[in-house]
Amino acid sequence: MTAPTYEKLTPPTTGTRVSVDAQGNWKIPDDPIACLMRGDGIGQDVGATPGITTCAVKVLDAAVEKAYGGKRKIHWFDIHAGDVARAMYYPQVKDEQVNTLSEEEQRQLYLPDDSLKAFEYFKLGLKGPLTTPIGGGFRSINVYLRMRFDLYACVRPVRYFKGVEAPNKRADKVNMIIFRENTEDVYCGIEFKSNSERAKKLIALLKEWGYTNVLPTAGIGIKPISPEGSKRLIRMAIKYAVAKKLPSVTLMHKGNIMKFTEGAFKDWGYELARDEFRAQTVSEDEVWKGADKKGKVVVNDRIADSMFQQIQLRPDEYSVIATPNLNGDYISDAAAAMTGGIGLAAGANIGDHAAMFEATHGTAPKYTGKNMANPGAVLLSGVMMLEHMGWDEAAQLVNQGVDATFAEAEETAKKPGGKLHVTYDIARQFAGYGAEAGATSMAFADRIIEHLRKLK
Ligand code: NAP
Repeated sequence: MTAPTYEKLTPPTTGTRVSVDAQGNWKIPDDPIACLMRGDGIGQDVGATPGITTCAVKVLDAAVEKAYGGKRKIHWFDIHAGDVARAMYYPQVKDEQVNTLSEEEQRQLYLPDDSLKAFEYFKLGLKGPLTTPIGGGFRSINVYLRMRFDLYACVRPVRYFKGVEAPNKRADKVNMIIFRENTEDVYCGIEFKSNSERAKKLIALLKEWGYTNVLPTAGIGIKPISPEGSKRLIRMAIKYAVAKKLPSVTLMHKGNIMKFTEGAFKDWGYELARDEFRAQTVSEDEVWKGADKKGKVVVNDRIADSMFQQIQLRPDEYSVIATPNLNGDYISDAAAAMTGGIGLAAGANIGDHAAMFEATHGTAPKYTGKNMANPGAVLLSGVMMLEHMGWDEAAQLVNQGVDATFAEAEETAKKPGGKLHVTYDIARQFAGYGAEAGATSMAFADRIIEHLRKLK
């Protein structure tokens, strides 16, 4: 593939492109180029005031520098999307004009070809939050990126950070990573409105097939789940568990009711584990029958509703969860809520040929340009990127730096009037402290850097 040319972007003059081979193995040079979408709202820099993405990047660079002593370095390539891109590429387009544009023109407005070409070529990206477009046609930059680059796995790690107020008493036992299928299930957008011609046609067909329990006025949605779509997602989850030496992969499904979609997802999962990971995995069933699980990943399954109880009652029994799209959407947010702190919810959309790492929160517009939002979620998404690159030493340094910064804040807050080095959202959780006791986003980032530099 030849290097693209751009209308308004200047790629870095140093650094090397990452590559992925036919088997889906990523090859990461010591000087990879990674696309960076700083984002809108709290993601963007306003004048000299840094946004959360800039703060996060500073920490990531410091961790890489400390871990590899200058031998490795990420070369960031600033590309644009959202309101920031619109202001840069199409400042003349007024809000009231947006709805008169075609869906493709709206896409161009919020996600210019320049950015698509860059991400397609460089494959790796870190993204701050983006404003959801105002037009009715082009609905979401994130969804578009997922579809266009076949980023089929939505990956969300959820863990507890000491010092962060969490609503669940067992939150400190939460340390799991959720692999949500991103392209199938009821999210395919195949839906027919109540009383529409298509809904009526389908209902008539169903009646012909003997399904007489569908009322003629029903709206209809379709839920496709395929073996290929399920297996590639479950494969990624099992590979992750094997690489990280994690104890289990849980297939979360509602197969007791939806046998040929969710039930099949579970069956295909066990089949894949048997066919492709026989040496590294053992099923829970086999363990019950006496098989040795030592050194192996136990593959088990849980019905979706029971899983919501399980993660609350016995969170430490779950480490990797693989699940279809809708379940994944629900369980990711439920698990994140258990540990508190939306400012810390990291995520990634990963495919076989591209990966975009992104905070799961939005642009929190009221904090734009205030240098006060928590950069943690973008930072931890960056940690996921480092892990994806195999730069685990740097990833670990950031994690330990974040832990140390929270632990220090918790200790400080035991006495009144201490100076906290965490942002407002964390500061206000401590008794006797309010949001005003919070540090700036950059001061929080700098404190993490101080801590990680002290680590052995
Ligand atoms: P939001 O931006 O996530 O903000 C909701 C609230 O969450 C904030 O007011 C703040 O609460 C807290 N919060 C979010 N991020 C934080 C951070 N980094 N540090 C501290 N607190 C944080 O949700 P929204 O207001 O519903 O959405 C705003 C825009 O973002 C919309 O255009 C939406 O479509 C878009 N959005 C984008 C993404 C994405 O790009 N991935 C995701 C979701 C939403 P307090 O004020 O209570 O402290």
